[in-house]
Amino acid sequence: MREFKTESKKLLDLMINSIYTNKEIFLRELISNASDAVDKLNFKSLSDESVKLDDEDLAIRVSFDKDARTLTISDNGIGMTGEELEKNLGTIAHSGSQEFKAENAESQGDAVDIIGQFGVGFYSAFMVAKHVRVVSRAFGSNEANVWESDGLEGYTIEPGERDGHGTDIILTLRDNEQGANGEPGEDYDRYLSEWGLKDLIKRYSNYVRYPIQMMVTKS
Ligand code: ADP
Ligand code: MG
Repeated sequence: MREFKTESKKLLDLMINSIYTNKEIFLRELISNASDAVDKLNFKSLSDESVKLDDEDLAIRVSFDKDARTLTISDNGIGMTGEELEKNLGTIAHSGSQEFKAENAESQGDAVDIIGQFGVGFYSAFMVAKHVRVVSRAFGSNEANVWESDGLEGYTIEPGERDGHGTDIILTLRDNEQGANGEPGEDYDRYLSEWGLKDLIKRYSNYVRYPIQMMVTKS
């Protein structure tokens, strides 16, 4: 038997334009990935004595910059190496979380509550973003890497810098769209506002077990 090959570009296009009818769920997907990353680190620290978290506050942070049109979701979870960025974000429908669950199936009990499994949630970011930048540093590593993509042709991975382990997902949001025939257009600006983000977090991410902190810079 021959294996099906994943036509990444077509699949990505389908993902962005058809699978999700509701664009706003992108935030739930990114927050659940952040929660998974924190969970994995937490699990490691419970099951592996060599992993010491010196009383670190494990949390998820959401911040935005209206002028730059960027929305950032950060976690201080397990992070990704360059190789993991390639494997997890370079292959559509590859779930590192499903792998993690399988690898730790015997020991995990109910210590981990990982949500991810389909390996597609991350790409929902492209429903609202024209550019996505991922800065990640794996726990235990001194090196960070930056994954970047416009969601169309491909992506780049380059060495970068980050203080401490974890991941920042930085979305450059699309411009607001004008609707046709007097219909309201797509409003991306609400993802650059405190009320808009709080509304989404309340509706979709209430179940997340780590604190979600909203960083608001007064200008
Ligand atoms: P899923 O969550 O279903 O596995 P996603 O498309 O949402 O699929 O994410 C793909 C993979 O990328 C995840 O399984 C995980 O290995 C990795 N990943 C995504 N976001 C993060 C993050 N914030 N920290 C660490 N790894 C991440
Ligand atoms: Mg996910």
